[in-house]
Amino acid sequence: MENSMRYISDLMSFMDNSVVNFYAVKTIRERLDANGFKVLYAADKWELTPGGKYYVVKNNSAIFGFVVGKGDVAAGYKIISAHSDSPCFRIKPNPEMVSDGGIMKLNTEVYGGPILYTWFDRPLSIAGRVMLRSDDPLHPETRLVKFDRPLMTIPHLAIHFNRAVNEGNPLSRQKDMLPIIGQINNIAEKNGYILRLVADELGVNPSEIIDFDLSLYDTTKACLVGVNNEFVTSGRLDDLSMVHAAMAALLESDDDCEMTKVMAIFDNEETGSGTKQGAASPVLDHILRRINASKGGSEDDYLRAVARSFMVSADNAHAVHPNYVEKQDPTNHPVLGGGPVIKINANCKYMTDADSAAVFKTVCERAGVPSQYFVNHSDVAGGSTLGNILTSQIDLRGVDMGAALWAMHSARETASTIDHIYIIKAFTEFFNC
Ligand code: ZN
Repeated sequence: MENSMRYISDLMSFMDNSVVNFYAVKTIRERLDANGFKVLYAADKWELTPGGKYYVVKNNSAIFGFVVGKGDVAAGYKIISAHSDSPCFRIKPNPEMVSDGGIMKLNTEVYGGPILYTWFDRPLSIAGRVMLRSDDPLHPETRLVKFDRPLMTIPHLAIHFNRAVNEGNPLSRQKDMLPIIGQINNIAEKNGYILRLVADELGVNPSEIIDFDLSLYDTTKACLVGVNNEFVTSGRLDDLSMVHAAMAALLESDDDCEMTKVMAIFDNEETGSGTKQGAASPVLDHILRRINASKGGSEDDYLRAVARSFMVSADNAHAVHPNYVEKQDPTNHPVLGGGPVIKINANCKYMTDADSAAVFKTVCERAGVPSQYFVNHSDVAGGSTLGNILTSQIDLRGVDMGAALWAMHSARETASTIDHIYIIKAFTEFFNC
């Protein structure tokens, strides 16, 4: 246990660094670089060697790390997939809005499905990607930017102006949720305020910035809670805790494998995966095909390899909430600390079936960790995730699973420390077996 707690301190620093999708990918990249993985570019010719460790980045917001198996061309792939994005607020173009007293607020758009009121009264900041002018119009320069200090807050309306606030309070995304970033003395300062702020941080001229993908993030750090540190609380645990577990397993498992180990971290799961860097795109299929081609494999070899493959689609699950036990299925409600959660749905929202659940349960048993089921309460419509979206692109067997979580899509979610350790052990066993 002592030794395993290093996974939890590592998880917390990973969460604190991975404040938006672009920074999650940057943090993973740095970790793969430090562990001997070589970067590959989609536009280059790939020359891979068996046992070689590589990664590919897509759009700065998705990342695919793999260790080429030493088996023959049809040995297959063991894949763990997860997603880099979390619900948040994106800053719109021309975002500056000035109110009385020179109070500057920013126009934003909601990304994914956050629990809106959890974003009030927090010390927020800005992070994301900025595109700068370059000599090649087709390839502007990409720079990441993250302000490490709180810049903003979304102040809630005082209760005195809405006495019924605690009886339920519908929120407008356009009116109620705009963050306040400062106070200006002269209205002339308004235009280009954000561009100047970002340019300053990057040490460039504002005229060099052509466009940006910038989001808000909560600057509050991850921490342990519970008398015996039973729980970990942080923003973005969905799905960065599974990203962290996949990365830990990729790095700690045996590299001397017959099958190719793959960590596939997609973007845009929270908006339906329908982008070029999302799970509905052919990006992973193309990478697996190119690994096959580098071994001299044919199309038939590739399809044989896929037929021998297995995917763990890792996205977090709802733990039974002690204040709302009635929301969950009466006989299958995962608990914090009960181990990895296997997700099942009769209408096939999840890719899990008895065959793939049996595989994953066996992996858990071999790793010495418990496992449990999540099934929706039959009167409650559930969510969907990466698994089935990916199987529309690649003909894979696989299981949908995740860690049990409270307050999914809150600005701060809560999970179990022991579950995270269990899941890293199960993923490592999956890659090793
Ligand atoms: Zn998720």
